[in-house]
Amino acid sequence: MNRGRIADTICTVTELNRREWLNRVLALGSTAALSGVLGACGSNQKRTQGLVGTPIPDNPSVPRFSGPRVPITKPAATNAPTGLPSGVIARSRWARFGPDVSLADPMRGIDKITIHHDGMPPQNLRGMDQCARQIEIIRRGHRNNGWADIGYHYIIDPEGRIWEGRPISLQGAHVKEHNPHNLGILVLGNFERQQPTPQAMHALDRFVAAQMRQYGIPLSRVLTHQELAPTACPGRNLQRYMDWTRARGGNLASA
Ligand SMILES: [Zn+2]
Repeated sequence: MNRGRIADTICTVTELNRREWLNRVLALGSTAALSGVLGACGSNQKRTQGLVGTPIPDNPSVPRFSGPRVPITKPAATNAPTGLPSGVIARSRWARFGPDVSLADPMRGIDKITIHHDGMPPQNLRGMDQCARQIEIIRRGHRNNGWADIGYHYIIDPEGRIWEGRPISLQGAHVKEHNPHNLGILVLGNFERQQPTPQAMHALDRFVAAQMRQYGIPLSRVLTHQELAPTACPGRNLQRYMDWTRARGGNLASA
């Protein structure tokens, strides 16, 4: 195998694994690592050629190249995110900008879930466009706080849709001093003053149960914001629902 073929192989592997590497880099939260990965087919080509070392026999059953080394300072979490859950609307449908990863810490595993409301003046959101606009307003507000992105990882709207928020490779910003390993789920509405819709609660039960299964989270670690910090969030009406759904015979407890 000549140098040219090796370089082509490196580029092919790089393209195939780019998403996986980007996820890993996001998990590391390192712009230095990011530039290293993205440079693998260009400025770093000489360095990656140097990693090939002893020529490998041209045997298709032998892996020829294991990919450029991405510096990893900590082992990946065992329950690291693997992608967007089915049925979740991608953030490209609503977000005008991506997160500023330089302002966020990596998530490195999820061990609890916290439920929120937005607490804004009550509205009757209808349709995808209104909901998308509302989520973008929240993102802008959180960015104006100097945060990396919208603080929550998922958003549930009154018609039962679930939207992607901050990528789950990044730690959220939704419970002060309790953000590490904490999956933040926002239900759109002000549940001090409104009742959550049956569609939203059905979506919440179904989605939270799926996340519990995915990350091995017990019911005792499905929390509301006010159970971690002095706040009215998620509002008395959603809190009442959460108390019921987690209690014996409730939807989440029975899931
Ligand atoms: Zn909250």
